[in-house]
Amino acid sequence: MENCLFCRIVRGEIPSTKVYENDQVYAFRDINPQAPVHVLVIPKKHISSIDGIDEASDTDLAACLRAVRHVAAQEKLTGGYRVISNCGPDACQTVPHLHFHVLGGAQMTEKMA
Ligand code: AMP
Ligand code: ZN
Repeated sequence: MENCLFCRIVRGEIPSTKVYENDQVYAFRDINPQAPVHVLVIPKKHISSIDGIDEASDTDLAACLRAVRHVAAQEKLTGGYRVISNCGPDACQTVPHLHFHVLGGAQMTEKMA
């Protein structure tokens, strides 16, 4: 995906603050953090959203969740954290490349939407 923002970040064409990387995934700090810790975990292979996961391998999908866990530990989110993946316009997805927001570092409210 030539012009996809997150594909360009994976390729290093747009700068980002890397938190974690392996063969399948890349994790970096959100440019507009909504919690003391706000990291985005993305598959390196372009997938549009959870609606597009039929295109993804189980290995890549599992790697995303394992990376979420890794990032949470690395960022010392011992009190807990929230994982969000916005999918489509009703959820206000703005970047059409699958990503998992990892939010933590402060007490959150029970309200999720
Ligand atoms: P979503 O609204 O769920 O699609 O989330 C997209 C997220 O990407 C937002 O939280 C943005 O702040 C974040 N974002 C957009 N551009 C960048 C960038 N260049 N580097 C890091 N995060 C970004
Ligand atoms: Zn992409």
